[in-house]
Amino acid sequence: MVAAPEELLELDRRLVWHPYGPMPATSAPLAVASAEGVRLKLEDGRELIDGMASWWCAIHGYRHPVLDAAVRDQLERMAHVMFGGLTHEGAVRLAERLARWTGMDHVFFADSGSVSVEVAIKLALQYWHGERTRLMTVRGGYHGDTFGAMAICDPDGGMHSMWKGVLPTHVFAPLPEWSETWAAETRELAARHAHELAAIVVEPIVQGAGGMRFYAPECLALLRELCDEHGMLLVFDEIATGFGRTGELFAGTGFGPDIMCVGKALTGGYMTLAATLCRAHVAERVDGPLMHGPTFMANPLAVACALASTQLLEDGGWRDDVARIDRGLRARLPPDARVLGAIGVIELDEPVKMERATRIAVEHGVWLRPFRNLIYCMPPYITSDEDLARITEAMVACA
Ligand SMILES: *Cc1c(COP(=O)(O)O)cnc(C)c1O
Repeated sequence: MVAAPEELLELDRRLVWHPYGPMPATSAPLAVASAEGVRLKLEDGRELIDGMASWWCAIHGYRHPVLDAAVRDQLERMAHVMFGGLTHEGAVRLAERLARWTGMDHVFFADSGSVSVEVAIKLALQYWHGERTRLMTVRGGYHGDTFGAMAICDPDGGMHSMWKGVLPTHVFAPLPEWSETWAAETRELAARHAHELAAIVVEPIVQGAGGMRFYAPECLALLRELCDEHGMLLVFDEIATGFGRTGELFAGTGFGPDIMCVGKALTGGYMTLAATLCRAHVAERVDGPLMHGPTFMANPLAVACALASTQLLEDGGWRDDVARIDRGLRARLPPDARVLGAIGVIELDEPVKMERATRIAVEHGVWLRPFRNLIYCMPPYITSDEDLARITEAMVACA
């Protein structure tokens, strides 16, 4: 690194937009020089245990020798090739594995989670040939930042007020908290709008960026039933829950979705890749070609990395690791914290003071990125018990 840290941060502040941030930025980011295992190494020499797995993606940790080798090997052959009119073995093998794991029949490779949600929406709309054009979802969800995806994010926590008049308006069932009242309201809403509803789209079991809530599988069973009754497609956004995070390989495959989105941990957090999967009966009714084709569709480097990451899952001890982290979080977080698999959440009564929380976590040698009133961790599965203890201590200290 040539620039002095202060110079780098000043340029960053003036030039570079950060997620959900103003320009110029009002708070300074930490500069990361490298990362290894579960540790981020900062430019100033400090080391932080990554409690976020880089927004839930780096499930095997950083610089994993198998993933590094897979990317290096692929680089010897080709970094990229277009996917229109061409194919490559990696893409076919990865599609085969994803189909086998999910019970789906077809795979569309997208270049980010949000785009895979857009593709899922297009699939559902093309399935209905324009006859049905609205979607149903539940409150509290998050599905990405592109316009189609934003329109099914929680209307309060999301950006609906900012984009009023621009976003399509969809049908929102109450927060998925299982009860007879919830079931009755959701059932009534589905019946009332069935004639215009192409699909129901939800994150199964865990609502991530919409509020880090967990909900009962009974809700998913009811949504499946409503889809069968009224002919809607059931779409599961497993971008956050996929690849073991909840303790299951996927949180919702047991409830028979017609379409699924995966992303985030697909490449083990090395680079961006996502996929939209569907059952054969969906593809059969889609009207003509599916109208989507990203420039970097099925990028060979990303695909090679995803093959290596999913191979590690196939071989590996992830199930034991996630169960071990689940036990560790339950033992160490306060009794009112929420824990599921490798997800731990402390919900506060008021919004987190971000700068204070970040400073306290960093003083504990831990990287956390709370939002709203939520202090949470989603650590890499390889996090040791000792490092997990540091993460939970930091979470408690921030709260
Ligand atoms: C992160 C996320 C997305 C968006 O994925 P990007 O890769 O950021 O576009 C969509 N749905 C869920 C459930 C997510 O957690």
